[in-house]
Amino acid sequence: MDAHILPPVADQDYPRTWNEFLDWFGSEEACLTYLEKLRWPRGFVCPVCAMAEPPYRSSRGRLICRACGRQSTVTAGTIFDKTRTPLRVWLAAAWYLTNQKQGVSALGLQRVLGLGSYQTAWTRLHRYRRAMVRPSRERLKGLVEVDESYLAITDRQSPAPRGKSQTNKVLVILAVEVLEPRGFGRIRLRRIPDDSEVSVIPFVQASILPGARVRTDGSAAYRTLKTLGFEHERQVHLGSSVPAHVSMAGVHRLAALLKRWLLGTHHGSVQPEHLDAYLDEFVFRFNRRTSSSRGLLFYRLLEQAVVTDPLTYEQVVQKTTGQGRIQAG
Ligand SMILES: [Zn+2]
Repeated sequence: MDAHILPPVADQDYPRTWNEFLDWFGSEEACLTYLEKLRWPRGFVCPVCAMAEPPYRSSRGRLICRACGRQSTVTAGTIFDKTRTPLRVWLAAAWYLTNQKQGVSALGLQRVLGLGSYQTAWTRLHRYRRAMVRPSRERLKGLVEVDESYLAITDRQSPAPRGKSQTNKVLVILAVEVLEPRGFGRIRLRRIPDDSEVSVIPFVQASILPGARVRTDGSAAYRTLKTLGFEHERQVHLGSSVPAHVSMAGVHRLAALLKRWLLGTHHGSVQPEHLDAYLDEFVFRFNRRTSSSRGLLFYRLLEQAVVTDPLTYEQVVQKTTGQGRIQAG
């Protein structure tokens, strides 16, 4: 679903600066109106009966369908559902999150917004991270490099005995569009349990358009790519004078950037079960890195936030993210 037929425009669809932001979102009503335009760019559609007609409006932002009479709100069913945090704070968080080039830690957000607890800040961030996964994304195409890499992440929330923090090694598969003559296009990431065929092939199929030229190392796990409709370019290093980091420069560079980001912004401290959300955030940022306007990034994040299901802190913590969910972008 395209939210807009025309691309969004600064000053008209999103504020350009923090000062403009303050002008735009001075009240809860202003925030509600803004989110309503994002959620229903062509006008209100009843979430119950799908009737597209302007609703009756009652107090406290309630929208009443003219056809079925059911009440709804702009925020129902989105990441802002049933929140006790003012929308102005939510939007400020989105602004802060998208305006920091490298992203923010929960502690940073807590300080800037004066949020009561670390947990509140963390949950806000996590809901936004979930919104960074776009449900219908176009797959990568052209020349795509695919490789796996180990990430070392430290779990400081649940320290190992004797107060030592626990470091886990997690395997991640990476795909990056390699542009010619130089540069990178979009990326995809996923956590995988091992580097076997059953782990890597579903990722390739979900992330890359058939017909693309897929460049991998010599691993046998990728041997079926040709029969699955991909052009397969194998970089075999055995006896070659070209080292791996040269022949697969794209994925190696990407893995290095990801590791640096986890260490820099998040101090390498990520609970393993939450790594997927961090990968989502990294992909969102990377794939929009050339976006000329931070305001546009804010707009894109909110656009996705109003169509993303809410998740409580308990659900987030209980959720064990296994296979399949993990991609972003
Ligand atoms: Zn209705």
